[in-house]
Amino acid sequence: MRVYISVDIEGIATIVNSESTSAAGNNYERARRQMTAEANAAVLGALAAGATEILINDSHGCQTNLLPHELHPAAELIQGTPKPLMMMEGIDPRFDAAMFVGYHARMLQHGVLSHTISSRSVSNVWLNGQPIGETAINAAVAGYYKVPVVFVSGDNELCKEAEETLGNVETACVKHAITRVSARSLHPAKACEVIENGVQKALKNINQYKPYLPTGPYTFNLQFINAGMADAAAMMPGAVRVDGSTVSFSHTDYMEAFRGLRCMINLGA
Ligand SMILES: [Zn+2]
Repeated sequence: MRVYISVDIEGIATIVNSESTSAAGNNYERARRQMTAEANAAVLGALAAGATEILINDSHGCQTNLLPHELHPAAELIQGTPKPLMMMEGIDPRFDAAMFVGYHARMLQHGVLSHTISSRSVSNVWLNGQPIGETAINAAVAGYYKVPVVFVSGDNELCKEAEETLGNVETACVKHAITRVSARSLHPAKACEVIENGVQKALKNINQYKPYLPTGPYTFNLQFINAGMADAAAMMPGAVRVDGSTVSFSHTDYMEAFRGLRCMINLGA
């Protein structure tokens, strides 16, 4: 059994603000250790369920957060940015399951450090008229390769969003959001325990999960936090200006639509 794991940082236990998520932050070293511990918990759960190949993608910011020497030796690790598939780099049709650890709710929703791809520029993203966050955007990349997302971990708002969008998915809630920058968290060791157990349970029932991919054609609408960002993004070939702050891109192929979304975000930023 081949397992793919994308690891973000905002949904890791005890993390509540940018002191933990930015390399310049006072709590960053502590945060990346816990991020690595929760990735390892997922690896242990996967191994207990019979995984024979495990690939981890470091999916936050600089994408060199995870500590390679502390990572379980059964896993291989992708780090660095930019990567063509970003938070889903390395996924391919050979994988049997994908999992998201440390994920967060989408921009404008409740949830610790909620945002969608870029908290400095993106106000909202819609796919075919439905608001969509990183969980579903990335689940659809896995779905494109017919790989189901079987497990996600993060705060209570992330778990709710994942269940509402993906349907059948095992979730592990490691903290409850109080505000966007405060939370009541499980102890770091307890968070690892619920992740390990959740991953093992999901993979033991792997046949009950279906790949997630809405039917095409695919139209991404992207609203920026100001019109100047939309001015820049609208220069992309194929981009359509919807209103002062919103641009749109459509394609019949999800991966091409996804690339269009990424390009518009990069141009806007
Ligand atoms: Zn992140």
